[in-house]
Amino acid sequence: MYADVIVDIAHSEVDKIFEYSFESGISKGSRVIVPFGNKVIEGIVMGIKEKSEYPPERIKRIIRAIDDVPVMDEEALSLAEYVCRTCYCTMAQALRQFLPSEMRKGKVRAKNVSVAVLNENADLVELNLSLKKTAVKQKLCLDYLITNKRALLSELNKTFGQSAVKALFDKNAFNLLEEKVVRSPYKELEASGKSVELTPSQKKAVLSVENTDKTVSLIFGVTGSGKTEVYLKLISDVIKNGKTAIMLVPEIALTPQMLRQLRARFKDSAAILHSGLSAGERFDEWWRIKSGEAKIVIGARSAIFAPLSNIGLIIIDEEHDGSYSSESNPRYNTIDVAKFRANYYGAKIVLGSATPSIESFLRCEEGEYNLCRLPERINKKPLPEVEIVDMKKEVRRGNNTPFSAALKEELDSCLKKGNQAIIFLNQRGYSKTVICTECGHVQKCDSCDVALTYHKDEDALLCHYCGAKYKMITNCTECGSPFLRYGGFGTERVVAELNKLFPQAKILRMDRDTTQSKEGHFKILSAFSERKADILVGTQMIAKGHDFPAVTLVGILDADMSLHFSDYRSFERTFQLLTQVAGRSGRASEAGKVVLQTYDPDNYVLNQAIKYDYENFYKTELSIRKATGFPPFTDIVRVLISSKDEENGLAVTKAIYEELKIVFNENRESFRFFGCMKAPIKKIQDKFRYQVLMRVICDRKDILDEIFYKSNKYNGRNASVFLEVNPNNLS
Ligand code: ADP
Ligand code: ZN
Ligand code: ZN
Repeated sequence: MYADVIVDIAHSEVDKIFEYSFESGISKGSRVIVPFGNKVIEGIVMGIKEKSEYPPERIKRIIRAIDDVPVMDEEALSLAEYVCRTCYCTMAQALRQFLPSEMRKGKVRAKNVSVAVLNENADLVELNLSLKKTAVKQKLCLDYLITNKRALLSELNKTFGQSAVKALFDKNAFNLLEEKVVRSPYKELEASGKSVELTPSQKKAVLSVENTDKTVSLIFGVTGSGKTEVYLKLISDVIKNGKTAIMLVPEIALTPQMLRQLRARFKDSAAILHSGLSAGERFDEWWRIKSGEAKIVIGARSAIFAPLSNIGLIIIDEEHDGSYSSESNPRYNTIDVAKFRANYYGAKIVLGSATPSIESFLRCEEGEYNLCRLPERINKKPLPEVEIVDMKKEVRRGNNTPFSAALKEELDSCLKKGNQAIIFLNQRGYSKTVICTECGHVQKCDSCDVALTYHKDEDALLCHYCGAKYKMITNCTECGSPFLRYGGFGTERVVAELNKLFPQAKILRMDRDTTQSKEGHFKILSAFSERKADILVGTQMIAKGHDFPAVTLVGILDADMSLHFSDYRSFERTFQLLTQVAGRSGRASEAGKVVLQTYDPDNYVLNQAIKYDYENFYKTELSIRKATGFPPFTDIVRVLISSKDEENGLAVTKAIYEELKIVFNENRESFRFFGCMKAPIKKIQDKFRYQVLMRVICDRKDILDEIFYKSNKYNGRNASVFLEVNPNNLS
């Protein structure tokens, strides 16, 4: 028999099927070990056949299958093909999404432990008597086993010493058994979740999703409107019908609170899958899902590839969130992958958001998606009142702290009442930049065209793009002047300033730097929800989804930060972020308040956000996009070229530009923009970056394919070439 195998090498030069022979024990979807060149590597069997066109002596044999069962089923294999075709990546890259990275190359295996089980057939009394008086440890160990009947061998060795345990084993006092251990994540996480009676609008939403003949439903519900309860009811109905469900949240930090609620209802049927788990946990959870033991998967983006079959429902919470499109190969969009899987199984998709993406809302208007509204907060609690503070005035008044007078006052009264506050700032570190006051030089990374951020904890300058760490300087590297100043605030600085202002308050900081440890997110969020702190300072990590009932104040320190990115989506992003952050306030009995600090108080995005007027914002934004030819009316297509050698990069870019220009000239009516330039960040990790940027009207996959084939030819030693369609980040 012959097998078509894709080997686990991501290069485009080997992006094709290789044939191998075998006798038995291998099926479509199996992981196998095969000889390749002068190495042995892993591969996946894409298909099996009786005959081969090659002469037998040219075909190598499969060395062995890795697992007892095929890891990929029919659906997974066709989804991999779909990803490969639509995301312009290699098949090996697409296949990697389906298996936890630790599973590849056999880095983790199932874990077994040895258990000592008392041998009840032995004459234990006789044995006990026969032990010498001096064999105290053996006696103690035997007594322990007689009382407990069984124990972990490792524990016995630790308590009674290896030689005593071995001696007892030799005397037949116990037998050894190998048992599989399941490494389960978040063990200490208690299941919690009271069962509530759904409100009439929640019930209506559930019925609407279940009864519509459309595949996709969008639940457009303000923050705190009880979307989670709707999801839980939908999941429970799907499980009752013998099907399975995937539930995605935009941030790993949000998975534990969801898992807690899922465990309360579905016990061990719920599994969790994300990159923050340990290798062993990920391995065991993956197999629990694959074997059918777990029927519900909660996770962030990558869990959309969970090895479930018979899917009935896929929920994507905060569907507008940028984290749902992948920024490295394969550059997939989670909603598209969900649609593929839903079509395969006849499943439903539920998208949820208080601020849907412009694209999703348009699809509702056009009738492709089913729209369900949850227009009010549970118990009709009002959305928090938002006060806009003009920071220009504060600066004129000589206030150089990150806090306006209004925010200070609100913080003071919030703390006095014993409530909690959240301070949001999308900048980690102590200061955003370090600037020389003599010559104005801004300290930059040697490898990237990016300003360095000062981190006081480490007393170092860090590059947030490549991770490089530099010693803090005492003099300007340009002119030698010792007069340096910090430009802009980061979360570290905000905590330091808060400590000065409110010495009694307990403050937690949550950003990428404080959440590196295992379950780091979870620890900070648990501490805050158990009210072990009064103020939580954080980046966008704290903006989404969390439900902290005691929070009555949210301070947004720099609302403009994302407004001035040169991205067509910066208004949309700002609107979403502000609504999300504001939504953390006043979720329980007391009314909430939001203080929003800005240098641009008249900006229409901010003013629509504080009125929670999504639909007006949507209308304005949509008409701008239509007039200027931006998504969702076009696809943004970028060919990104990067090279260590500036001249090589430029030459490859020019060559690609010339080839694509032909495509452009032949299809002018389908293009809204065509141009070639340096990327906004000109250098990252010593690689110079260029781009050919295009906007192509939607549904011209043929043009995208042509762009890919023409530019991908140049992907090689001189330069790396990527094709991105509607990337999340155009830096
Ligand atoms: P959203 O996800 O829409 O922001 P949540 O699902 O977090 O909102 O719900 C907000 C709060 O309302 C939660 O504390 C939740 O327990 C509570 N809640 C939701 N549905 C109900 C209900 N039917 N009855 C009582 N409380 C509810
Ligand atoms: Zn200087
Ligand atoms: Zn760098």
